[in-house]
Amino acid sequence: MTAQPDRLLEPLDRVVGKRTAEALDALGVRTVGDLVRHYPRRYAEPGRLTDLSELALGEHVAVMAQVRQATVRTMRSRGGSLMQVSVTDGTRDLQLTFFAKRSGALRSHEHRLRPGKVALFTGTVGEYRGALQLTHPDYQVIGEDVDDEAAVLVEATRPIPIYPSSAALPTWRIQRAVRTVLDTLTEADLPDPVPAEILEHRGLVSLHEALRGVHAPFADLDWRRGQDRLRYEEAFVLQAALARRRAVVAAEHAVARPRRDGPSLLADFDARLPFALTPGQVEVGEQVGTDLERPQPMQRLLQGEVGSGKTVVALRAMLQVVDAGGQAALLAPTEVLAAQHLRSLRALLGPLAEEGLLGGAERATRVVLLTGSQSTAARREALLDAASGRAGIVVGTHALLSPSVQFAELGLVVVDEQHRFGVEQRDALRTRAGVPPHLLVMTATPIPRTVAMTVFGDLETSMLLDVPAGRPGITTHVVPADNEAWLTRTWQRVREEVDAGHRVYVVCPRISPDDPAEGGAAAEEGWEPAREDDGGAARPATPLRAVLEVAEELAAMPDLAGIEVGVLHGRMPPAEKDEAMARFSSGQLQVLVATTVVEVGVDVPEATVMVILDADRFGLSQLHQLRGRVGRGRAPGLCLLVSAAAEGTDAATRVRTLAETTDGFRLAGVDLELRREGDVLGASQSGGRSSLRLLRVVRHGDVIAEARQDATPLVVADPDLSRWPVLREAIGTWLDPRREEFLDRA
Ligand code: ADP
Ligand code: MG
Repeated sequence: MTAQPDRLLEPLDRVVGKRTAEALDALGVRTVGDLVRHYPRRYAEPGRLTDLSELALGEHVAVMAQVRQATVRTMRSRGGSLMQVSVTDGTRDLQLTFFAKRSGALRSHEHRLRPGKVALFTGTVGEYRGALQLTHPDYQVIGEDVDDEAAVLVEATRPIPIYPSSAALPTWRIQRAVRTVLDTLTEADLPDPVPAEILEHRGLVSLHEALRGVHAPFADLDWRRGQDRLRYEEAFVLQAALARRRAVVAAEHAVARPRRDGPSLLADFDARLPFALTPGQVEVGEQVGTDLERPQPMQRLLQGEVGSGKTVVALRAMLQVVDAGGQAALLAPTEVLAAQHLRSLRALLGPLAEEGLLGGAERATRVVLLTGSQSTAARREALLDAASGRAGIVVGTHALLSPSVQFAELGLVVVDEQHRFGVEQRDALRTRAGVPPHLLVMTATPIPRTVAMTVFGDLETSMLLDVPAGRPGITTHVVPADNEAWLTRTWQRVREEVDAGHRVYVVCPRISPDDPAEGGAAAEEGWEPAREDDGGAARPATPLRAVLEVAEELAAMPDLAGIEVGVLHGRMPPAEKDEAMARFSSGQLQVLVATTVVEVGVDVPEATVMVILDADRFGLSQLHQLRGRVGRGRAPGLCLLVSAAAEGTDAATRVRTLAETTDGFRLAGVDLELRREGDVLGASQSGGRSSLRLLRVVRHGDVIAEARQDATPLVVADPDLSRWPVLREAIGTWLDPRREEFLDRA
C-alpha cells in the first residue's frame, strides 16, 4: 500500500470541470485530497428556516427561507424588469431582488421560486429603504433536482452542509463537487492515518465513512460521527508529530553536565542564598539537575506561578553547567528584562560573579550582558568573554542565538518568560553547529494543560506551584472609573505607601494621548498588546489613559507633592529604559508610570502597589502578570484595577475574575474561555488551510489528551513509524514548516 495514492493528488479540473475547479482554486482547494478535506462549516436542517432577525448588514449569508410571494414588473424609468421575492422564516421577511433587461430573462426564477417553495439563498446582505435585502442571490430550491418521488422525500430530510464558500462558488456547487468526487473514492483511495485498532478502541468511524458523513449526511448523527473522528485524527496526527520530536531529541547526543561532588559554584551559591528554597524549587531543581546529567539534550518547560522563583531555579541549573565546564545563555524577551536579569543574577551571585575582579570569590564566573543597543566597546568585550569561555553566563535577547555570537562551550540555553519561543526556534537551536545545548523554557504564567500539550507538547513539563512562604499576599480591588471618591482614595493610598518607603507602578494602555487606542509599547516589545475585543464597544467613549499624560497629572497632584514620578514605555531608547528601571529599583523614583513593558518578569521587591488604569483593556493573563509585579517583598501588595467596563461584558468579567482569585491556573482557564479561538494558537491556525480545522484547543481538551495517550506509545515503539506509513506521511504534509507555524504563535 502506498501512503499517498494518486487519486488524492489528482487535480480537480479533470474531476469536477474547469469552471468549478477554478473557483475552488481561489479557495485554496486544488486536488481531490484538498476537496474532501474542505469540510462544511455547519449544517442546515431542511425543514428549519433561518432566523432572519440574526442577519447583519454586509454579511455573506446562507439563508434557508420560504417564498411568500414573487412579483415581476417593468421599470419605466430605467427600462428592464425587476423581480421582487419576499421570503420568510415564518416571522420576518427578507426581500430578494433580481434585475433583467427583459422580463423573459426572469422567467426561470419565477418558475423556480413559486410561493411555498423552500430554498437556500446565499448573498451579501444589503439594505433598501430600511429593509434588509439580497440582490441577485444564488439559491438552491430544496428537492428541485430530484425527479423520483421517493428520492425527493429522502433529500428533503437530509441535513444540508454549508461550506466555506465564495460569491463565485455558492455552497451547493461545492457540495455537488464533493459528492461527485466522493462517489468515485473507495476505502482504498483513502488510507487512514489513524490505526484501525485505535479507531476501534475509541469507537470512531473510518476515514471513508467520516468523509461521507460530513459531506453527504443522511442524518445529524452522520456528520457528528464524522466530525468526531476527523477531529480526533487532527489531534492524533499532531500528538504523533510531537511525540516524534521528543523521540528525535531523545536520540540526539548532548554533553552531560553532571553535578559536582565537593566544592563547586553551585554549592557556594546555595550556601550564600539568603532564603531556603521552596519545596517546589527543590523538586524542580532535582528534575532539571537530573536532565542535565544525561547525554541527551534536556527539553524542559518550566511552568510557574507568578513570583514562584523561577529565576533561582534557572540560575542553579546554569551554575551546574558552569561547574561542569560549560556556559549558559539566558534569553529574555526584551532588553529591559535582559538588563534586569543581569542585575539580579549579579546580586544573587555576589562575589561568585566577579571572576578576575578584586573581591571576587576564589571560585567564580563572569556574568555578561549582550544586547544590540550597548556601546560597541561593551559589546566587543562581551562577545570576547562569550567566545573565550570566560563568561559562564551570558544574558541577552534572542539575538544571542544569532550566528555572530560565538560561545566557547554553550551547554545550556534558558528562555525566560517567552511565549514565542516556538518549535522552529527550538529546532534552530538544536541544529546549531556542534552539539546541541540543553534547553529550559520558562513560561510567564501558568498555561492550561491542553494548550501546553499542544504548543509545548514536545517538551517535558515541570510545575512550580508554590510561592515562597511568608509572602504577604496581594489584595485586589476594582475601582469604577467614574467614582471620584474612589479615585481620590486610590492616589491617597499611593501617597501612604510611598511614605512607608514603598514603590508604586501605574500602568496605562497608551503612551501618549495622541496614540491610537493601543499603547504600542506592548507590541513593540514583542508582547501581546492590550486586547481590542468587547472593551471597545462596551465602554463609554472616554479616551484611554496615556503614560505621558498621567505622569504629568500625578507630578502636579497636591496629594503626591514631593514624590518622584518617572515613566517607562516602549518608545524610549533602551538606555533610558534601563535607567528608569534602575532608578525605580534603587528608590530614586517612587512612582513609575508605564505601559505593559513592566508586564513580565520585572522584580522590584519594594514595590507594593500596582494601579492599572483602563484595566478592562488588558487581557487576563496580562493583568495577572502585572499584578505579580507587587507583593514580592516583605510588605503586602495592593492591586487597584480602574475600570469603566459595563457589567456583563467580557471585559468586566476579566477584571472581576482577577479581583476574585490569585490562582494562575484558574485565571488561565477563564482566560482561555473568554478568548476567541484564533487567539489561542495564533491566527494562522483558525482559518483556511491550517491543519487544525475541527479541533479547538479551548473546547476539545479531552480529545487532545486521548490522542496524546494513544500516539505516544505508538511512536515510542516505532519512532520511524515504519509500520505506519500513512501516519508518517500525514505528519509530513500536515506539519510541514509553513503549517507548523501555528505552533510558534502561541
Ligand atoms: P518568577 O517566577 O515570577 O520569575 P522570580 O524568580 O523573579 O519569580 O522570584 C521572585 C522573587 O522571589 C525574587 O525577588 C526572588 O529573589 C525571590 N525568591 C525566589 N525564591 C525564593 C525563596 N525560596 N524564598 C524567598 N524568596 C524567594
Ligand atoms: Mg521571572
